[in-house]
Amino acid sequence: MSENLRKSEDTRNTSESFSAFSSSETVLDGWSPEETSFSGQPVVTGRDISTAEVLSEEELCAEIMSPEQLAESREYGRISLRYSLLDRAVDLLFLGLMAFLFTKPLIGWLVQVFPFLSGSGVFPTIGLTAALMTCLTFLHAVISFPLSFFNGWVIEKRFGLSNLTPFHWFRRYLLQLLLVFVLNLFLMTAFLFLIRLSGSLWWAVVSVLFFLFSMVLGCLVPVLVMPLFYRVEKLENESLMERFLELTRSTTLRLTGIYRLDLSIETSKANAMLAGLGTTRRVLLGDTLLKNFTDDEIIAVFAHEVGHHVHRHILKLMSGMFFASFAIFWLADLALRFWLGGSAFVVPDYAHLPVWTIPFFLFVMSIIGMFLEPFQNAVSRKFERQADTYALKHCGSAGAMRSAFIKLAVQNKADPFPSKWEVFWLHSHPAIGERIQSIR
Ligand SMILES: [Zn+2]
Repeated sequence: MSENLRKSEDTRNTSESFSAFSSSETVLDGWSPEETSFSGQPVVTGRDISTAEVLSEEELCAEIMSPEQLAESREYGRISLRYSLLDRAVDLLFLGLMAFLFTKPLIGWLVQVFPFLSGSGVFPTIGLTAALMTCLTFLHAVISFPLSFFNGWVIEKRFGLSNLTPFHWFRRYLLQLLLVFVLNLFLMTAFLFLIRLSGSLWWAVVSVLFFLFSMVLGCLVPVLVMPLFYRVEKLENESLMERFLELTRSTTLRLTGIYRLDLSIETSKANAMLAGLGTTRRVLLGDTLLKNFTDDEIIAVFAHEVGHHVHRHILKLMSGMFFASFAIFWLADLALRFWLGGSAFVVPDYAHLPVWTIPFFLFVMSIIGMFLEPFQNAVSRKFERQADTYALKHCGSAGAMRSAFIKLAVQNKADPFPSKWEVFWLHSHPAIGERIQSIR
């Protein structure tokens, strides 16, 4: 939940947050909304890699892009990293201050102004939670807006990656804010009542119910939410569909269709994803990818997605998250006990847990999430490598796969080799340079 709140201010992460909900897999890290001019061409594409020797990092960078492109990608990576870290710090500070200093006075003021919000009955609690969440969302938006705008529009525009006018960016920002607000409001109200109803075992109950909820959301997002931000239309391309079906023939992947996603409304970056669960399972290909990639390269990208399916990565990630959520909510319960009673053995009055504990939960879960992220990312990177290996074996052309990755690096201005700690802490995908190196 804190995650959702955190993401609310950063429209650059729109699709990332979508992918979190829709249990989808994308080709590259940080696939984000914004322009369409594919300005940079790779220096070399699709050379005969069967004889390719192992290149050093410098040699590979020189093969992928020109020195100017490399310098620009590194600069883009550096600036994006700096501001997204700052963004996270501001969010944590905001939640910390709300949790420990400002929420109680704020609630006192709300109850004074709106007397019908006092009392611990069902309706006053819902009303007070709604009022608190409204204040939190509004304050957070005000505080983090400059950073969001800088992160989501200014930097992207400066590097020629954004296609949005400030007005259009702002409209999407507001829409995302509204969606996240509604979702958070529902989740936090449910959260509070589940704790009140289930007592000291709330963390187990909440884990199970939130897991089920995220499954439902995973089905709904690609169908209902994605079209609010992008035009999603079925791709009528017989020959490509034929080749896609050929790749999935020996698997259990049943495609409901290939869809074209007009990413270019926002960004010039290319990406593709396999999204949804069950009957909503679909391949989404960005128009930015379709425009600049050959059929063979698109097949290589798709084969990577099939690799995720064959290795059951979504299922594994979701079960991992399921078990992790037990630990997260249990730790949150422990933190609550210490906070309210000073000891792990103090049992709080769960049945009357006050609304002012909500920011505390958001803060604690943000901290836990921060420490959990490297583990989650390590698993994700392992899965990405497995999917790459699968694609290499099945796409039919290592050269096409290599040139697809090179194009992705150039088009998305991805630093081929970001610092090791950055990859360790923040990246769900291996460095693109490493991925290209492994295609031999
Ligand atoms: Zn992937």
